[in-house]
Amino acid sequence: MIFELLKQQRRRRLRARPFPKDWLTLIQRHIVFFHRLSASDRAELLGHIQVFLAEKRFEGCGGFAITDEVRVTIAAQACLLLLHRRKDYFPDLLTILVYPSPYMVEEKRQVGEHVWEQGTVGRLGETGRRMGSLVLSWGAVKHAAVDPADGKNVVLHEFAHQLDFENHAADGVPRLATREQQLAWSEVMRSEFASLRAADESGIPTLLDTYGATEPVEFFAVSVEAFFERPHALRGRHPKLYAELQKYFNQDPVEYSAE
Ligand SMILES: [Zn+2]
Repeated sequence: MIFELLKQQRRRRLRARPFPKDWLTLIQRHIVFFHRLSASDRAELLGHIQVFLAEKRFEGCGGFAITDEVRVTIAAQACLLLLHRRKDYFPDLLTILVYPSPYMVEEKRQVGEHVWEQGTVGRLGETGRRMGSLVLSWGAVKHAAVDPADGKNVVLHEFAHQLDFENHAADGVPRLATREQQLAWSEVMRSEFASLRAADESGIPTLLDTYGATEPVEFFAVSVEAFFERPHALRGRHPKLYAELQKYFNQDPVEYSAE
């Protein structure tokens, strides 16, 4: 309890600290959505970035050097998920590992009923519930920051997974305040997931990335990407899904979207 109080106090102090000028310059130069936020949202975001950067460790991989540009560009996008909410700054996450470009992993995947394919594939990012870390490819991070409306954002995607883990399960359901909210959430997600699966199987074009049809965990992450990157289209085509995400995030990206 006392530890929690001290943590909150420390975070309040961090948020109130003057924001470093050169960090602000980097944000203004690289984060396109920043210019579209209201003045109060911009101020709130900068406060969260201070806490985030004080609490998370960054490590360069594959010879990559971590600079302030890297730290700030990742933090600004991740902290968009925290605006207007009771937040705990991704409590399970300690370290962010950054590769210069897509990193190669060995992957086995099913391509037919009894056919598996093994090979090396390039990845843009990943995280896991018990990893304590989150991996990103810098090329994809930079792209996500300058193109806020293509529906893809690896930073939002991986940090959405971290929100999913806050209720101690990787199940596509983040921490929701009431039982009522949980029920509403499950109902909407179940039917939206089923229709994405059906569309994917029959080859119907979808707004949501069909990677979300693989499992509910990925469905949540790609929905978050669409919510922030294509809010007009998502609200028009999936109003119930949009409404659940709007309640959870307590914000309406339609108001500041570049879409
Ligand atoms: Zn994912």
